[in-house]
Amino acid sequence: MSFVATFNRLPLPDWVRRAREAEDGAVRASLARPTLSLEDFAHLLSPAAAGHLEAMAARAQRLTRQRFGNVIRLFAPLYLSNECINNCRYCGFSRDNPILRVSLTVDEVLREARALQEQGFRNLLLVAGEHPRFVSNGYLRDCVAALHAEVPSLSLEVGPLETADYAPLVTAGAEGLVVYQETYDRDLYADLHTAGPKRNFDWRLETPERAYAAGFRRLGIGALYGLADWRTEALCVAAHAAYLLRHCWKATLTLSLPRLRPCAGEFQPLTHMADRDLVQLVCAFRLLFPDVGLVLSTREPARLRDGLIPLGITLMSAGSHTEPGGYTGAGQSHVHRTERGRIVELGASEWAPAQRPRPRPPSSSTSLITGRRPKWPGGFAPSVTSRSGKTGMRPSRHERIRPHRERPVRARRAALHPRGLPPRPRVSATHRRGGAQRGKPSRRPEFKARQLQPGDRLEIVQVVAGG
Ligand code: SF4
Repeated sequence: MSFVATFNRLPLPDWVRRAREAEDGAVRASLARPTLSLEDFAHLLSPAAAGHLEAMAARAQRLTRQRFGNVIRLFAPLYLSNECINNCRYCGFSRDNPILRVSLTVDEVLREARALQEQGFRNLLLVAGEHPRFVSNGYLRDCVAALHAEVPSLSLEVGPLETADYAPLVTAGAEGLVVYQETYDRDLYADLHTAGPKRNFDWRLETPERAYAAGFRRLGIGALYGLADWRTEALCVAAHAAYLLRHCWKATLTLSLPRLRPCAGEFQPLTHMADRDLVQLVCAFRLLFPDVGLVLSTREPARLRDGLIPLGITLMSAGSHTEPGGYTGAGQSHVHRTERGRIVELGASEWAPAQRPRPRPPSSSTSLITGRRPKWPGGFAPSVTSRSGKTGMRPSRHERIRPHRERPVRARRAALHPRGLPPRPRVSATHRRGGAQRGKPSRRPEFKARQLQPGDRLEIVQVVAGG
């Protein structure tokens, strides 16, 4: 019996009630137990448990130190392709987004991996959108096989496959598979995933089991916090993890905690998860699953990351560029648009690197391993502009448009991003850098969506998270 059947029978309403309404006594009783049940976990997510955060943190820290020592593993995502046949409302790779697309060749993937190795990375996560034509099983196998000789640890975060299609990837050298369910709320899932095979909730939910059957021995799951209520999502993730620990016992398991955060011009979270909630969740997961790895995103503010690491985090991405070719500028010679699965070459007005070289912006991220900035050779800064009248492309409902003007570096880089750029470290005017941080109001001009006019040029200023 797959997890789908188990999932359909979960006593979720009872757990959610406990997670929202548990009283102090129930929290204390759960904390007193040496091993926790899922009901105890629900109590530890409750508002009442927030009053016991210190005790939870102390126990979580002890367990983490005991099971994982002082080690935290760093990994780097290596984006192979931003082609995708799905429409996910929160993701800039969505097929209807008129962004520039590129799939790296195997040689380019090797170049990117070597650049990461130079920075000290030994664990790479190969990431790609879901597109059977551009990101075929053969292509993935060739990438893994080429990297296997040089990279000690390879994991994949790609479109879900059948067991038989996963097997050659394992044979080629891939060890881990990461697949987020995004949200465990079926209705919301259907609303957010408007087209493509990803609409099949159950198929995605069974992916870790198919991967395990194919031989993957590291499985990663998670929800995207900020879509449905975080407590409900956490309960479902916990139930899923408990199932996998029982049925896929030869594999190690990691839980990811990606969080959508408010950011100007990007997909806005549908629900709020405060920093304190995230701390509570990390502690509760550690208490429930002492041996399961917890993964934190570099998108989180540095201070929060530093505080969370001792409490339970065991794996973290670092120095990440979330666009194909982001580490070396690879792929610039074959950037294109994709319409209905066909490659559309760019016109000179859209992309002409020979005539209009644009220097690569310097990276703001520094390697956590070497303390050095990654090398960014010049040249790869594709435009995200399109002519609405000529292509007939419309911005998706979660994009904003504004008349064309000089594009900021951030928007140009956003063109190749799978989940949008990492949020800027601000959620309100008081967090803004520069003038706003010094107490002055931001001068950033506000803009509003308006009806498109003939000849308008579109600029994507929103492309956001996903997986
Ligand atoms: S979240 Fe994944 S499947 Fe959805 S559009 Fe983005 S890359 Fe494609």
